[in-house]
Amino acid sequence: MDSHEVLRRVFGYDSFRGDQSEIVEHVIAGGDALVLMPTGGGKSLCYQIPSLVREGVGVVVSPLIALMQDQVDALRHLGVRAGFLNSTQDPGERAMVEAEFLAGELDLLYLAPERLRVEQTVRLLERGKIALFAIDEAHCVSQWGHDFRPDYLALSHLHERWPDVPRIALTATATKTTHEEIAERLKLGAARHFVASFDRPNIQYRIVPKNEPKKQLLELLRNEHAGDAGIVYCLSRNSVEKTAEFLEQNGVRALPYHAGLDSGTRARNQSRFLREDGLVMVATIAFGMGIDKPDVRFVAHLDLPKSVEGYYQETGRAGRDGLPSTAWLAYGLQDVVQQRKMIDDSEGDQQHRRRLIAHLEAMLALCETVECRRVQLLEYFGQTGVPCGNCDTCLVPPETWDGTVPAQKVLSTIYRLRSERRQKFGAGQSIDILLGRKTAKVIQFDHDGLSVFGIGTELNESGWRGVVRQLLAQGLLAVEGEYSTLALTPASEEVLYQGRKVLMRREAERAAKVKTAKPK
Ligand code: ADP
Ligand code: ZN
Repeated sequence: MDSHEVLRRVFGYDSFRGDQSEIVEHVIAGGDALVLMPTGGGKSLCYQIPSLVREGVGVVVSPLIALMQDQVDALRHLGVRAGFLNSTQDPGERAMVEAEFLAGELDLLYLAPERLRVEQTVRLLERGKIALFAIDEAHCVSQWGHDFRPDYLALSHLHERWPDVPRIALTATATKTTHEEIAERLKLGAARHFVASFDRPNIQYRIVPKNEPKKQLLELLRNEHAGDAGIVYCLSRNSVEKTAEFLEQNGVRALPYHAGLDSGTRARNQSRFLREDGLVMVATIAFGMGIDKPDVRFVAHLDLPKSVEGYYQETGRAGRDGLPSTAWLAYGLQDVVQQRKMIDDSEGDQQHRRRLIAHLEAMLALCETVECRRVQLLEYFGQTGVPCGNCDTCLVPPETWDGTVPAQKVLSTIYRLRSERRQKFGAGQSIDILLGRKTAKVIQFDHDGLSVFGIGTELNESGWRGVVRQLLAQGLLAVEGEYSTLALTPASEEVLYQGRKVLMRREAERAAKVKTAKPK
């Protein structure tokens, strides 16, 4: 059978999408390929079809052990002879798959990467006929990325052991750095690179200021996504549990998913989410990689993702079926403070920390942009776009206001607090001082005697938090050390002493308007 016949007869599709056809022909002809394609783009067929057309078994390396059973079941359902080898199997099950492989009774064999470090597996593979190696989630080889798996580094040896077997590496992560790192580490320099557009036109991107996140989420679900399936991401296990409970109490069917649940519960919740309609999965980022549920109508983030790559991948799980879907993120000052603290506390060298900070800053820039979110996202991946008409900044262009004076007030307050050498204060103390609040802590440190005490009554508490957040995002303020102390940066001196102007987004009223605006 040729590739089109396989597409029709085995998979039941009429035509290839995007670059699929070219990729498939290239690999069938024995060429190496590096495929960058967004989630939902159809990467699987790019190696599944060549595995069926070429002689021998297609060996698929994937880190997604939890999904292998499902993937293999789905393929067997289509009549494809598929099997997998990973650590969840007992020796008997493994021996059966090995026997099938050796007897030439498999079309596809899924392997966890650590299997290839076991000499026995390598010897097994050497005794059979291999059609190709597919390296799925190839960004896991990148130390710069957010999903590094040491076992992936060993995959560079595949080429030496099997110089004549074509290799196809696939990922939905596409920054230039990751792209280059994959090519280098997997020795795919000579491979053909297929780079698809990363635009997901059916996803509406929205980023809103965080006030009462659970309530805001509930409102979103009630007003726009009643009865829809969706994923809600939270940073901590605790907030996953609380949010799932909160949704349940308010009539939304929700399930929790995080690494602290036992594997049985996790597997059960995952399979319910995949099989039942209209369930909301509340999860940490441990959930979702490789999940193929086409009708996820929304992805909501209650906490700021750590990087734009992460944000893109997580939001990319919405709308794989091409129908309108929402990517909604609530973010606030506390997110910035908390993430800076996590970076400061993190293990690893200075260089590693600088990377994390760069990731965070790119994410903040996306949150605070006054331009089209989609254009910003695509630019991050080195691609260009035009204002999309289907993101919050396009639908309701944010007004900016001259925030220079409030910025100066915040910065001079922090300057004064910093000169009290041994004391460390966070954003809350500065805001209390600006608002003229005589809290116990203000009185204890005589901060009601400061010249800045009470000079900020033009804004309320949430207004000031917005100012501090935007100063952080613009690099005009930094968070430091164990107590998340606010600190001036070289750029903040320009605001204080050189008359540098500060533009800020006007927020509160805007968020309300976006809800009612509809894409053109
Ligand atoms: P990815 O791995 O890139 O996230 P998948 O390979 O899981 O994407 O494909 C996403 C969805 O699109 C799947 O439901 C798949 O069956 C479907 N699909 C892929 N290629 C085609 C095609 N040529 N025609 C129709 N549907 C397709
Ligand atoms: Zn836009």
